[in-house]
Amino acid sequence: MRVHKIAAIPADGIGPEVIAAGLEVLEALASHDGGFKLEVENFPWSSEYYLEHGHYIPEGGLEKLKTFDAIFFGAVGSQQVPDHVSLWGLRLPIAQGFDQYANIRPARVLPGVNSPLKGGEDIDWVIVRENSEGEYAGHGGRAHKGLPIEVGTETAVFTRAGVERIHRFAFELAQKRPAKHLTLVTKSNAQRFGMVMWDEIFYEVAADYPDVKVDRELVDAVTTRMVLKPKTLDVVVATNLHADILSDLAAALSGSLGIGPTANLNPDRRFPSMFEPIHGSAFDITGKGVANPVATFWTAAMMLEHLGEDAAARRLMQAVEAVTADKIHTPDLGGKATTADVTRAVCDFIRASTK
Ligand code: NAD
Ligand code: MN
Repeated sequence: MRVHKIAAIPADGIGPEVIAAGLEVLEALASHDGGFKLEVENFPWSSEYYLEHGHYIPEGGLEKLKTFDAIFFGAVGSQQVPDHVSLWGLRLPIAQGFDQYANIRPARVLPGVNSPLKGGEDIDWVIVRENSEGEYAGHGGRAHKGLPIEVGTETAVFTRAGVERIHRFAFELAQKRPAKHLTLVTKSNAQRFGMVMWDEIFYEVAADYPDVKVDRELVDAVTTRMVLKPKTLDVVVATNLHADILSDLAAALSGSLGIGPTANLNPDRRFPSMFEPIHGSAFDITGKGVANPVATFWTAAMMLEHLGEDAAARRLMQAVEAVTADKIHTPDLGGKATTADVTRAVCDFIRASTK
């Protein structure tokens, strides 16, 4: 029996609701597949925990996390803690501390889901987000706070090593897809240093992947292309900030932010990778039992794939697609189902399909 150790960090808002749903579905898969077992440990690190203890991650916390095969993360962010404090307190120390430099965000319209876009069924993208540096490197400062001469800087930091590895990762991913097409997204007309370096390194790396078709788009222009010509995009590689924005748009164009999954990968597997839905804490629906768990299920499938459980990953996606095709939808997709209804339907399908 293969055993995978999972660290669950549900954290804030709807995080605990969708992670509980995700674990339920994973448990149904494990117990009805027979090939593997998940050992899940729950970590209580959240904004509530922060308000009580003064930190999100306790001393030795990252060391402890290192002993797991994967991290299953909910969302962090609370109305009681400034967003930059919560993000830098929990999610970024894990993603950056474990060198999870490749953030993978697939987007497609699942069966039975309506895209707000005419021609939305053409969406079949993977957004590759640089996840270790760039605009979220944490460099900058503020001076003369509150005075008329106040200055604030937010410096994007790009390194050759960091840029080259994300491009290489994106090319390898594009190479495995039928369309073998990679679009480079930057803003190298207005930003003439780091962004121009991104462009140059991209074409250097491209020489090693002659079978991948490439093109390039400025980040503002690519938003219009996503809306007007969705079929012309396949894999997109972009910086930490740009891809963060593009992937929320991609999820919304695929039907809802409640659908989009994420893998934060440490490709060399020195450290555990982290899997999370794209969405945040969603204060407006927290505690109402209506959060869409599909993003978390899709995320769980990506985690299974990473753990080498490809068959279980495929079965999970089959179950999810059967349930969306049946229009068992939460309100964000125009339905009346609860988180529990969708979870139950997915678990039922898994059990029925493995009898
Ligand atoms: P959000 O993703 O929490 O919510 C945006 C909108 O999408 C809301 O209307 C929400 O109800 C809806 N939504 C999101 N997930 C949904 C789901 N599963 N089912 C149905 N509807 C869903 O983004 P926000 O409002 O910008 O941020 C709220 C908090 O979350 C902030 O504190 C922010 O910093 C944090 N945040 C955290 C992460 C993360 O942990 N990775 C990501 C984004 C935002
Ligand atoms: Mn985001």
